[in-house]
Amino acid sequence: MKIAVLPGDDIGPEITDATLAVLRTVDDVHRLGLDFEIHEVGMASHRRCGTTLPDRVVEMARAADGVLLGPAGMTAYPPLSEGGRNIPGAIRKELDLFANIRPARARRGLPKAQPGLDCVIVRENTEGFYADRNLYLGYGEFMPTPDVAMSLRLITARASRRISERAFAIAETRRKHVTFIGKRHVLKVTDGLFWREVERVAAQHPDVTLREVDVDAAAAELYSRPQAFDVILTSNMFGDILSNLANALAGSLGLAAALNVGEKHAAANAGHGSAPDIAGKGIANPASLILSAAMLLDWYGETRGSGPHRQAASDIEAALDATLEMPSARTPDLGGTAGTKDVSAALCALIRNGK
Ligand code: ATP
Repeated sequence: MKIAVLPGDDIGPEITDATLAVLRTVDDVHRLGLDFEIHEVGMASHRRCGTTLPDRVVEMARAADGVLLGPAGMTAYPPLSEGGRNIPGAIRKELDLFANIRPARARRGLPKAQPGLDCVIVRENTEGFYADRNLYLGYGEFMPTPDVAMSLRLITARASRRISERAFAIAETRRKHVTFIGKRHVLKVTDGLFWREVERVAAQHPDVTLREVDVDAAAAELYSRPQAFDVILTSNMFGDILSNLANALAGSLGLAAALNVGEKHAAANAGHGSAPDIAGKGIANPASLILSAAMLLDWYGETRGSGPHRQAASDIEAALDATLEMPSARTPDLGGTAGTKDVSAALCALIRNGK
C-alpha cells in the first residue's frame, strides 16, 4: 500500500512522525507492505519553491493508495496568487473526497470524557455554507454594495444523496441509528432538499432508524444525552462545529480523528488545525492523526478485501485505548505531562507485545 505523506505545518510534522512510527510498527507486525512517499508541503514548501502545494504532489497523492495529511497552518499562508494554496481543500477537490468521517468516543479512564459518547459524524464535504465549495459560482460570499455582505449555501440532491448513502452504510455496521442534523424549519429550501434525499436513502435501509434534530437542540443533546447519537448525518458547516464539540466531549481536540473519503480515494487528516500555539514543544497529542491513519488502513482493507490492514487498524485503536488508560502516557491537553514521542513509543510497545 503506497501512502503519500504530507506532513503540513506547525505541529503537523511532529504528529506525522509519531504516526509514521506507529504505522511502521503495524507494518512489521502484520506485513502490510506499506510504502511511504514523504512530500514537503506548507510553508516549508513555499519557502523552497513558492507554493504550499506543488502540482506534482497532488499527482503523487492521486497515484497513491492513500494519503496521510498533517494539519496545514493556512491562516499564515500568503494569498493564493502568491502560492498560498489550501492543501486539504485542494486534495479534497482533486480526489473528490466528498465525505468527512469524524468519530468521537469517550475512552475509558479519561477524566473529562462524557460517558455514553460513541458516535460518528458523517459530514458532507463539498458544498454547504463554505465559500470555496460552491461549484456553480466558484465562490460563495460577495458584497453587492460596500455595506452589504452575503453568503450562499449550496445544497444539491446528488451530494446529499451520496453522503446519505455513506452514512446509512456506516450505520449498518454500528448501532443502526442515523440522526439527521439540520435546521429545516429555517433553512426550508436547502435543508428541505437534503432531507428529501435522506428519506429516500432511508427507505432502502428499513433496519436503520432515522431521527431528525435541529442543530441547536443537537448541540445541547450531544452534551446532555450523548448516548442518543450513533451516526450523525449533516451538512458541511454543522458537521465542522459539531465534530469539535463531540471531540471536546471525548476529552480533547487532540483525539479528533477524521477520514476524507470518496469513491476511489481517501485521505487521513486530523480533525483539528495546526495548533501553532504549541508547535515545536513536543507536546502535541498525536492520537488524532494516528487514529485517522488507522481509519485509512481500515478503509483500504475494506475496499481491497485485505484482512491484515483491518486488523492493524483495530490493533491501533485497542492500543490507544490501553495507552490512554495510563495517566503517565497522556499529553497536556488530556491533563498529563507526556510528550508526543512518549505516546507513540507507548503505542508501538503495546502493538509489538500484541496488546
Ligand atoms: P483550524 O481553524 O485550522 O481548524 P483552529 O483555529 O480551530 O484551527 P487548532 O489549531 O485546531 O485551532 O487549535 C485549537 C486549540 O486546540 C489550540 O489551543 C491547540 O493547541 C489545541 N490543539 C489542537 N490540536 C491539538 C493536538 N493534537 N494536541 C494538543 N492540543 C491541540
